Amino acid sequence: MEPKIIDGKVISAQVKDEVKEKTAKLLEKTGVQVCLAVILVGEDSASQVYVRNKKRACEYVGFKSLSYELPECTSQEELLELIEKLNNDDTVHGILVQMPLPKHIDEKTVIDTISPKKDVDGFHPMNVGALCIGEEGFVSCTPAGVIQLLKRSDIEISGKECVIIGRSNIVGKPMALLMLRENATVTVAHSRTKDLADVVRRADIVIAAIGKPKAITADFIKEGAVVIDVGINRNLETGKLCGDVDYENVAPKCSAITPVPGGVGPMTIAMLMNNCLESAIRFSGADI
Ligand code: NAD
Repeated sequence: MEPKIIDGKVISAQVKDEVKEKTAKLLEKTGVQVCLAVILVGEDSASQVYVRNKKRACEYVGFKSLSYELPECTSQEELLELIEKLNNDDTVHGILVQMPLPKHIDEKTVIDTISPKKDVDGFHPMNVGALCIGEEGFVSCTPAGVIQLLKRSDIEISGKECVIIGRSNIVGKPMALLMLRENATVTVAHSRTKDLADVVRRADIVIAAIGKPKAITADFIKEGAVVIDVGINRNLETGKLCGDVDYENVAPKCSAITPVPGGVGPMTIAMLMNNCLESAIRFSGADI
């Protein structure tokens, strides 16, 4: 069977183009210029790349972006002061603090300080709680992106058996809540799951968010399943990026699959842009 290759580059471009159009409409109708503030502490090279990509995406969709690149020695107090200042600035609609933070800064305190109304990463406990009980809030960008990949590829979720592998706060758990919201029957597997292959074989939709190259092999996959690979790992032999799924051997068994790179990866920034626009629309009260 030839699987459908779910193209995250194409779908993320669609999402960004929709955001771009609505951003222009919002500005024209209300004068509100969407603005995202991005804070980076320290010199982590991967984080610098992520921040650069976020700024580029802001430019593309027509957002103003404010960039705060703070030295490694920035104190927690100084960082919290900056966040409070941005919380109180009506011209800022989204605040993103790039993780990981230096060891002397407590990530939880930082996340808790960002106003839930500007928490476009969807990490604040208020937003996580809102997702849990089906209220309006911001949803973590990567799992929100997976939902868009499925929906825009016309993959039915309702009533399907979905197995999510991984239970992190930023991917696995919100992913489970989103699939539940879409009426899937959801199982969350993790490092302590017994007989992982047996559990995963039940799935019509498999979502792997583990962080282990090629951990999901063909024998885990039911014939005709949809496989979404969130993992981004560096293959130590080739130096290339690879997912959590053994793509080459799994793909022939699937009805649809995401590649790595070019699958889930590009969706995260697109959904960040979408969340920030959503925040500005809510702030403006306009009907866009
Ligand atoms: P994490 O390390 O916080 O969580 C990994 C989860 O996998 C844990 O819940 C753990 O229980 C589970 N796990 C570990 N080993 C396992 C095993 N052998 N069998 C079953 N479960 C196992 O990681 P994370 O932040 O959730 O990220 C997961 C992967 O997704 C990483 O590769 C990360 O780079 C990638 N990621 C991609 C994006 C994106 O934009 N596409 C965003 C976030 C994370």
